[in-house]
Amino acid sequence: MTILELHRVHKKYLQTDQFAVNDVSFQVDKGEILSLVGESGSGKTTLLRLIAGLEHPDSGYISLAGQKIVEGKKSVPANKRNVGMVFQDYALFPHLTLLDNVKFGLKGKVSDPDKLAKDTLSLVGLSENFSKYPHQLSGGQQQRVALARAIAPSPSILLMDEPFSNLDTILKDQVREEIRQIIKNTGVTAIFVTHDTRDALSTSDRIAILHKGYLQQIDTPRNLYEFPVNGYVANFFGRRNELLATPTKEGFYSGFGFIPDERSRLFYSQVRLCFRPENVRVEKTDQQSMCGKLLKSTYFGDHQLLKIQDEEGKTIKVRANAHTIFERDALIFFTVKQFQVEEI
Ligand code: ADP
Ligand code: MG
Repeated sequence: MTILELHRVHKKYLQTDQFAVNDVSFQVDKGEILSLVGESGSGKTTLLRLIAGLEHPDSGYISLAGQKIVEGKKSVPANKRNVGMVFQDYALFPHLTLLDNVKFGLKGKVSDPDKLAKDTLSLVGLSENFSKYPHQLSGGQQQRVALARAIAPSPSILLMDEPFSNLDTILKDQVREEIRQIIKNTGVTAIFVTHDTRDALSTSDRIAILHKGYLQQIDTPRNLYEFPVNGYVANFFGRRNELLATPTKEGFYSGFGFIPDERSRLFYSQVRLCFRPENVRVEKTDQQSMCGKLLKSTYFGDHQLLKIQDEEGKTIKVRANAHTIFERDALIFFTVKQFQVEEI
């Protein structure tokens, strides 16, 4: 069931000549976690602010839980939209205890704010800490208080702007999983903004990718990663190799050798083969595979990245296991397990 719909939403700030959000349409299902990704300035925060009612679109409409919250000049004010927000810096009140921070937004809205605030803090794993102050907590705990405060009033949708950006890498992996679990347990629908592709890929049901205010693609993490609709989306999620190749009946010829593949019959002129470094298997045997000369290997602990070159000087990067030691200039044999074929 659709809980949120944006339809052809445009937003241009005063005194700017580009749209910050340009003709964006998408729907979010109830209980879904959607992440919004894109480089800095791509319109992510603006989109959240439009949904929250902190900005008004120039055109298009937004509906939430079956009600149009913005259309034309009409708009439901921010405090009447049933939207929860978690800000990047958590925005907790430093002089209030955790319990009072969570109760703050509940007064006059529910019959027993105290009980609801305690229940929600327990839900996020902070039942021991009701009377502590924000500065007595770790970053990850403060994050959970902010989350408790946002979800306590049962919002139709929870919006989070860069929720993990203030946490260091080790803490981040743990907090990300905890937050995802809490959100899933409560069944709340959530949109979170991030510029970190790992956050997006590991936490979301679907990802929407923005570039210069335009929605490029919205899909599951796996589909976005494996079947990007354009080069921008492909390269956003990590480097991919692009190799010119000539189709024959049985496959494709490239500077690194032959790749057998039936799709070659669909093409009559040169194509571009696209694949990521991890879509390559480096082989011990020199039979039936492609090869290139090793220029450089970079060690990452759990794998190594080999930069290899064909006879014409074209280079690609392929991933190999970390423990094999390859000599510089050695011939590296490999097969490409999965690739996309693009017309030129
Ligand atoms: P992101 O969150 O993806 O970094 P933003 O939504 O903050 O992107 O910004 C999108 C575009 O809108 C950028 O070009 C930014 O400079 C511009 N912008 C954002 N807020 C304002 C504002 N209050 N006034 C004018 N321009 C703004
Ligand atoms: Mg932003």
